[in-house]
Amino acid sequence: MIELEHIEKRFGDNLVLRDISLQLAEGSVTALVGPSGGGKSTLLRCINLLEIPTSGSIRLGTEKIDFVPGKPVGWDAIQKLRRQTGMVFQNFQLFPHQTAIGNVMEGLVTVLKWPADKARARAMELLEKVGMAHKADAWPATLSGGQQQRVAIARALAPSPRVLLCDEPTSALDPELAEEVVEVLSRLAREGTTMVMATHDLRLASRVADTVVFLDGGVVVEQGGPRGIFSTPQQERTKKFIASLS
Ligand code: ATP
Ligand code: MG
Repeated sequence: MIELEHIEKRFGDNLVLRDISLQLAEGSVTALVGPSGGGKSTLLRCINLLEIPTSGSIRLGTEKIDFVPGKPVGWDAIQKLRRQTGMVFQNFQLFPHQTAIGNVMEGLVTVLKWPADKARARAMELLEKVGMAHKADAWPATLSGGQQQRVAIARALAPSPRVLLCDEPTSALDPELAEEVVEVLSRLAREGTTMVMATHDLRLASRVADTVVFLDGGVVVEQGGPRGIFSTPQQERTKKFIASLS
C-alpha cells in the first residue's frame, strides 16, 4: 500500500501540489493525467523523493515519512523509501557505456552489492520478461527507442521495488515503438506490478491503468476507472481536457 496524505510541494512561491491525498493498493496501476504543468511529474518525483514534499506524509509499505516545513528529512529515511521505488523516464536514460545487461545489473552490483553472477542471472530474467534477452550484450546506442525503454523498465525492476514509477514512458516514441512498451507495461500490470505513471497517452492509461487521477493546477480534480473518467467525466475541467484531446 502507498499512502500519500496531504502532500504539498512548493517551489519558492509556486505551490505546485496542493493537499494531495491518494491511497494506492498493492498491485494497482494508477495513471496521472492532465494538462501540462498540472503537477504529474512533480507528484511522481515526490513519491521517490527526487523532490522532497514541503508538507504531508508518504507511507510506502513499512516506511513512513512525515514532511514538516523547516525540518529536513534524514538521508537514511530518504534512501530507505527510495529503494522501494523504481523509476522509468521519458528519455530512457540508460548508461551509454554499459551494455543492456550491464545497465540492468548496475544497481544490483554497485548499490545492493550482489555478486556479479547473481546479478547477471536476475538481469537476464528481467530482460526476458521485457523481450530483450536477445539484445543483452547490445550497446544502448544500437537499440531502438522502444528497446531502450524496455531495458530501462528491466533496470527499474531489478531490485524488486514495491512500486514502479513511470514518467511519460511512451512520449518519446513513435506509435509502433510505443506499442511495444505499452505491451510490456500491460503484461507487468497483469502480473500484479504496482505502478504509477504520468502520461499524455490516454490509450496507455485506458489499457494499463485501473485508476485514473486527473491532476490540474496541483489538485486532484477527479479520479476513477479509465472508462468512467474518459467517457463520462464529471467535472468541467476534466470534460474540457478530454474534449481538447479529441
Ligand atoms: P507535463 O505534462 O508538461 O509533463 P506536469 O504535469 O508533469 O507537466 P510538472 O512538471 O510537475 O507538471 O510541473 C508542475 C509545475 O511545477 C510547473 O509550474 C513547473 O514549472 C513547476 N516545477 C516543476 N519542477 C520545478 C522545479 N524543479 N523548480 C521550480 N518549479 C518547478
Ligand atoms: Mg511531466
